[in-house]
Amino acid sequence: MCASLMYYSIFLCIFQDQDKEYVGFATLPNQVHRKSVKKGFDFTLMVAGESGLGKSTLVNSLFLTDLYKDRKLLNAEERITQTVEITKHTVDIEEKGVKLKLTIVDTPGFGDAVNNTECWKSVADYIDQQFEQYFRDESGLNRKNIQDNRVHCCLYFISPFGHGLRPLDVEFMKALHEKVNIVPILAKADTLTPTEVKKKKIKIREEIEQYGIKIYQFPDCDSDEDEDFKQQDHQLKESIPFAVIGSNTVVEAKGKRVRGRLYPWGIVEVENSAHCDFVKLRNMLVRTHMQDLKDVTRETHYENYRAHCIQNMTRMVVKERNRNKLTRESGTDFPLPVVPGVGDETEKLIREKDEEVRHADQQPDSHHHYDHEHESEHYSAHHEPSESESNAECVTFPCIGL
Ligand code: GDP
Repeated sequence: MCASLMYYSIFLCIFQDQDKEYVGFATLPNQVHRKSVKKGFDFTLMVAGESGLGKSTLVNSLFLTDLYKDRKLLNAEERITQTVEITKHTVDIEEKGVKLKLTIVDTPGFGDAVNNTECWKSVADYIDQQFEQYFRDESGLNRKNIQDNRVHCCLYFISPFGHGLRPLDVEFMKALHEKVNIVPILAKADTLTPTEVKKKKIKIREEIEQYGIKIYQFPDCDSDEDEDFKQQDHQLKESIPFAVIGSNTVVEAKGKRVRGRLYPWGIVEVENSAHCDFVKLRNMLVRTHMQDLKDVTRETHYENYRAHCIQNMTRMVVKERNRNKLTRESGTDFPLPVVPGVGDETEKLIREKDEEVRHADQQPDSHHHYDHEHESEHYSAHHEPSESESNAECVTFPCIGL
C-alpha cells in the first residue's frame, strides 16, 4: 500500500516535470524570428566626408549593388558654390529569404566649398527632421505603418593624406555625436603603408578622446562569452578608425577573381584582411552590430530628441496656461514673450494633436485611450518636471495624455 503510494507520487512528479517541459514557451524565439523575417528589416546608413574620399565606391563594395548609377559628378567650379545637399538611395536586397530595405543617405558637397563654416548644419538638420517625422507619426492615431527613416549609423570618412583629424572633422563629429552613431573611417588605406596606417589610427583615436568626441561604442562582451568572441571584440575596438579600400572592379589574383585595385606593382584586395579592415567593417555593420546600432538610435539618440521636444511642449503649455490665468485675473491682454526653444513646428504639432484628439473623442471606438496611457508611461519615464512645471496646476497635455 505504502509502496504503491510512493510509485504514484514519483509518477506524479515525472508527469509534472514533463508538463513543465512542454508548456511551449521555448518556441517564442522561433515565433519572433518568423514574424520579423516576414516583416523584413530596414537599415539607414549615412556616409559623410569630403568628396573624392571613396564613399560611393565603398558603399557599392559593401552591399554589392550599384547605388550610384545616376550620379552626376560636378566640376571644381560647381563644387565651390555648391551647398551640402542630401541625397537618398533605397534598395531592397534579399539574402536567403531575408529582406533588407537599405537606405543610403549621402552628403555630396560636404567640405567642398571655400568656406565650410557650419557645413555640417544641413546634415544635422536632416537627422533632426527624420526624428521629428517619426515623433509626429508615433504620436498620431495610426501607428501601425510608421515608416522609420531615422539614421542608424554615419560612416565618417577621414582623409588618409592629413596628419590626423582636420578641424572640419572635429567640428562635424562634435556637432553630430549626440544625434547619430558615428563610425570613423580612414579612407583609401592603400595609399598608406601598414606602419603609417597603424600610426594614423593611434593618432586619430587619441584626438577623438582629446576633443571629447563620442563615437559609436561597441557594447561590452558578457563575461561568459567564449575567448574567441572576446578576442574578436577586442580586435574590432582596436580597428577604429576602420582603414578601408573600395573598388568597383573585379580583378584576377592568384587565379581567383576578387574585388580589388590593380597597380603596376600588384593587386590590393578589398576583402583581404591583411590589406585592410573592409571585412571587419562589413561584418560589424551587417552581421554583428546592425541591431545594436538600431537599438542605440532608438534608445539613446531618438529618446534624447523626444525628451527635448516634450520638455519644450510642456514649457509652452505651462506658459500659455499662466498667461490665460493672468489675463483672466487682471483683465489686461498684454503681449506674450516668445518662448525660447519652441519653434513653429512644435506649435503646429500641438495644434494637430489637439485636432486629432478632438476628432477621436467624437468616435465611439475607444482604441486611442490605450495609446494615451501608453504614451504617458513613456513620458513619465523620461521627463523630470522643472520647478515651474511642478508648481503649476495640473497640466493636461492634449497629445501625450499628461
Ligand atoms: P566620393 O566622392 O567620396 O563618393 O568618392 P568616389 O567613390 O567617387 O571615389 C573617388 C575616386 O577615388 C574614384 O576615382 C575611385 O576609383 C577612387 N577610389 C575609391 N576608393 C578608393 C580606394 O580605396 N583607394 C584608392 N586609391 N582610390 C579609391
